[in-house]
Amino acid sequence: MKKITKKISCLSDKQCDGHLILKHIDHTIKLKGRTVIVPDIEVWECDKCGECFYPYEASKKIDLYKEYSGRLMLRIEPEIHWKLTRIAKKHHRSLNQEVNHLLENTLK
Ligand SMILES: [Zn+2]
Repeated sequence: MKKITKKISCLSDKQCDGHLILKHIDHTIKLKGRTVIVPDIEVWECDKCGECFYPYEASKKIDLYKEYSGRLMLRIEPEIHWKLTRIAKKHHRSLNQEVNHLLENTLK
């Protein structure tokens, strides 16, 4: 198989003759004093000046994490709470994991 090695020049405003390398990183953002990690995003990092450039998809994912924390406080019927706890135990999941799993499948 032929390996494609295309070098992309650094896009920095500073005069830099480095090249960009595609990396998968966990991006850290600060939100209202809280540290939030955006997992597994693709960034182009310069091998010389270290500046990072974010492709559209990565920026979109970061924006999503800024807007939606994933923390949700809700009220449910005690009986549903009990049922969820039972199902979670049966599946060896935390209550959070179980609710996330159920919602994920429902929203597919
Ligand atoms: Zn550079």
